[in-house]
Amino acid sequence: MRYPEVWDLDSIFKGGSKSEEFIQFVRETDYLLADLAESIGDEVTLDQLENAIHSIQLQMQRTRQASAFVSCLTAQDVKDKEATLWLGKMTEQATKLQNIWGMIEDFLGGLSVEQWNDFISRPSLSGVTFNLEERRMQVKEKLSPNEEKLAAQLAIDGYHAWGNVYNAAVGRMQIPFEEDGQEKLLSAGQLQNRLNSSDRSIRECAAEASEKAWQKEADLFASTLNHLAGFRLNLYEARGWDNVLKEPLAINRMKEETLDAMWSSITENKPKFYRFMERKAQLLGVNKLALHDVHAPLSVEGDTTISYEEACDLIIRHFKPFSPKLASFTEGALRDGWIEAEDRAGKRPGGFCTSFPLSKQSRIFMTYDGTIANVATLAHELGHAYHSHCLKDMDPLAQRYAMNVAETASTFAETIIADALVKEAQAEDVKLSLLENKVSRSLAFFMNIHARFLFETRFYEARKEKLLSVVELNSLMEEAQKEAYGNQLATYSPTFWASKLHFHITGVPFYNFPYTFGFLFSLGIYKKAREAGRSFEDDYIALLQDTASMTVEDLAKKHLGVDLTSKEFWQEAIDLILVDVDEFMELTRDK
Ligand SMILES: [Zn+2]
Repeated sequence: MRYPEVWDLDSIFKGGSKSEEFIQFVRETDYLLADLAESIGDEVTLDQLENAIHSIQLQMQRTRQASAFVSCLTAQDVKDKEATLWLGKMTEQATKLQNIWGMIEDFLGGLSVEQWNDFISRPSLSGVTFNLEERRMQVKEKLSPNEEKLAAQLAIDGYHAWGNVYNAAVGRMQIPFEEDGQEKLLSAGQLQNRLNSSDRSIRECAAEASEKAWQKEADLFASTLNHLAGFRLNLYEARGWDNVLKEPLAINRMKEETLDAMWSSITENKPKFYRFMERKAQLLGVNKLALHDVHAPLSVEGDTTISYEEACDLIIRHFKPFSPKLASFTEGALRDGWIEAEDRAGKRPGGFCTSFPLSKQSRIFMTYDGTIANVATLAHELGHAYHSHCLKDMDPLAQRYAMNVAETASTFAETIIADALVKEAQAEDVKLSLLENKVSRSLAFFMNIHARFLFETRFYEARKEKLLSVVELNSLMEEAQKEAYGNQLATYSPTFWASKLHFHITGVPFYNFPYTFGFLFSLGIYKKAREAGRSFEDDYIALLQDTASMTVEDLAKKHLGVDLTSKEFWQEAIDLILVDVDEFMELTRDK
């Protein structure tokens, strides 16, 4: 085997969840964190502050290294109890780190302009100027350090707890569902799988059961949503923020004009996707698509299976014309045991890529069983690994990119492979299913996520005035879906505000538009890369290296020469999908 299917974790920490080396490492981090916290007293000199910023970055890497190891252990064997026990320790260390950051930020925010200018021009901080400035600005826009501390304490029970209540209530749901002639009780997750079934009659029953089940619990979920939103809005008001998008935009380092330009380009192009939806309805033998049809597969994917070795070779081969460096990085990662791909029992589902900053390596987790979707996942995760690889020698703070650019390299890599597969597909039905998949995937970003965004912005506006009833939430959601899907569907999901976890996540506000941004941003880069050929390689690496060191507008201006606040860039990215729509329409003309 040229490419092992089981990853190598021993070279990171030897001995799995009982690793002595790992136990020592975590213990040492405890001491180092305690030392660091102690070194920051009520008063610090600028020299001490500079030192603290260097040591906290080292601690960020140590905690990242350890928690990456734990996620790998828990993923490769869900029954590894010892590994699961480590999770608590990881959260504890992350919280300590967070608290120390809070102390450092207070000092940054308290510096006078002269002190700050002197401080930030120190040579040892030159790699993190943007990140420190960003944190200082954020402190200045918040309440006083003591008030923010109190708010954070109150949030545990008054804010995050609502998210916990939501999760607990969803976890308890048992939804009656008739299957194979008998009534079963399904969890929300199991019902979700039925909603994505390739069998339309199963999807239909699941959609009906789902609306009924969520409606039954809607009073409770209306409370959790109203209250967590109320807490968020009150805190924003106390800080003097009146735009509910202020925080999510700041987290994603982007301007509202950029967001507006992106959504209005998408909206303008929607009619061009309606013909695809009409054709898909026709192929499914229905008048209009139901919501649960939009992302459903047209047919079973055929019986093409691709061996792991073949997949690896294919990926390397297609990466090469775009970037020889990406290709040789990929070859090394595959050869050196960075990937856990084996199809065996006891692994958790799904895929991820995690990086070990101290080893300057990544590990990819997935279960490879030979489908085309598996090949896409492998390429996607290799893209993430390459992003980390490009950032590996930068200061730790300058490696912390936001959610909206996190999928840049992964989507880029996945798009290379998806395009190549469509081009190389011999059988027409395989080609069709690949194309259909690509377009449907983009509809998720353009319509489903758009509906979430429209609902959430309108909900928060309305919530400023009063609590919203279940009826009001349902109609707000249905309106948003109708608008986002251009009134093209036969059915909608009015209770989607309750069933979608993302509205109830308290860790990150507005967990929606960054997905769409990331997808289109990456397509825009892909377009440039295709035009420029190999000469784009170094520009691409430079762009990835800057993903955590500037705003997205500056990033795009510097490396792509484009203005994200104008619609042109977004239109060009959408055009790439429209080419797929055209090809799909052509192939299905006589069907
Ligand atoms: Zn990803």
